[in-house]
Amino acid sequence: MALQFKRSWSDEDLERYRDSVARFIEAEMLPKDAQARQRGHVGHAIWRLAGELGFLCADIPEVYGGGGGDFRHGAVFYEETARRGLTGMSTSVHSIVAHYFLNRGTQEQKRRYLPLLARGELVGAIAMTEPGAGSDLQGVRTRAERRGSHYVINGSKTFITNGFLAGVVLVVCKTDPAQGARGTSILIVETQGCAGFRVGRVLDKIGMKAQDTSELYFDDVQVSVENLLGGKEGQGFFQLMGDLPYERLIIGVAALACMEGAYEATLAYVRERHAFGQPIANFQNTRFKLAEVATQITVGRAFIDRCVEQIVAGTLDTATASMAKLWSSEAQGRVLDELLQLYGGYGYMNEYMIARMYADARVQRIYGGTNEIMKEVIARVL
Ligand SMILES: Cc1cc2nc3c(=O)[nH]c(=O)nc-3n(C[C@H](O)[C@H](O)[C@H](O)COP(=O)(O)OP(=O)(O)OC[C@H]3O[C@@H](n4cnc5c(N)ncnc54)[C@H](O)[C@@H]3O)c2cc1C
Repeated sequence: MALQFKRSWSDEDLERYRDSVARFIEAEMLPKDAQARQRGHVGHAIWRLAGELGFLCADIPEVYGGGGGDFRHGAVFYEETARRGLTGMSTSVHSIVAHYFLNRGTQEQKRRYLPLLARGELVGAIAMTEPGAGSDLQGVRTRAERRGSHYVINGSKTFITNGFLAGVVLVVCKTDPAQGARGTSILIVETQGCAGFRVGRVLDKIGMKAQDTSELYFDDVQVSVENLLGGKEGQGFFQLMGDLPYERLIIGVAALACMEGAYEATLAYVRERHAFGQPIANFQNTRFKLAEVATQITVGRAFIDRCVEQIVAGTLDTATASMAKLWSSEAQGRVLDELLQLYGGYGYMNEYMIARMYADARVQRIYGGTNEIMKEVIARVL
């Protein structure tokens, strides 16, 4: 009997939704992935199409133009892309941005930005990291200085997911450098026609080639005081901390789905490929490796499913979400390494999904807070 990775949190409606997501991905995203990888981004059209079909901001209330679902609806999209090795379109960062508006924005900010994000008319990005500040965000130097009814933003950001295509960027700035964390705020920057805003390089990464990870520059960028997220200065750090469980669980969910997709593809491969007069699936080593991988996925599924249930119930804490990110991304690295080996030389060729997944997965241990930072967060509650 084939191993089936059932989700405890799914139901008939969600599985129907999953089918429609899968059809969209197969028809619209997969055929264009090779081109997107060459170009370094997926382009705007696919964002608009996903928006039109209701696949963006699925867990944002309908009154703001979203799908009216919950975390599980977003998870379906992350899973179905991850299991097919598609990492170009970061709907996860897009959703994270939408959640900053939903949970931290003023009423006007929610009304303006959430429908645009849900329709895919604006792609969302969040810009925290700078050349001199990654794990330690207290070191952010981008400055937003209040001048009358405006803020003037100066600084630069790097490694920004969706950075090239973004129409709205949440920029983590110092509004009062003397105040440390309490002097940090998040400013909303609309990039279209924005004087002083510039996208630098689309960065050349070892994986996630279709993902437009970019540098962003702010040179006397003027935004209205109304573009202060939540309308109150000095809230940036608290706003960032508030949504961490959501962001970290998304990474865990995608990691596990990627392992499942890789496992299924590898199972098919080893049954087809022959050596020494038999399918390589017959060798004890192959069977043992697949048994180990299936066990890791099954154990991981139990934990991730519980986390999904907790986030839907509003009870997922930051330490547990950090465990989900830590464990799943580490397991993803181990599992993909083992599975790739079963392909022999073909596993090293980019035309094989396993090769792309292997390269793409490495960053899962780095972004969203590095896994060392996850351990710090977990250790604090011990
Ligand atoms: C593909 C990609 C996409 C990204 N997307 C975004 C995005 O959309 N928005 C955004 O703002 N950022 C983004 N990032 C940035 C990412 O979040 C940072 O790279 C990450 O937080 C680490 O920061 P750093 O690179 O400056 O490394 P550093 O902070 O310099 O860390 C270097 C090493 O030191 C370790 N370290 C640091 N502090 C400690 C500590 N206290 N204890 C133990 N070890 C420690 C780290 O774990 C790491 O191993 C992205 C990065 C990549 C590669």
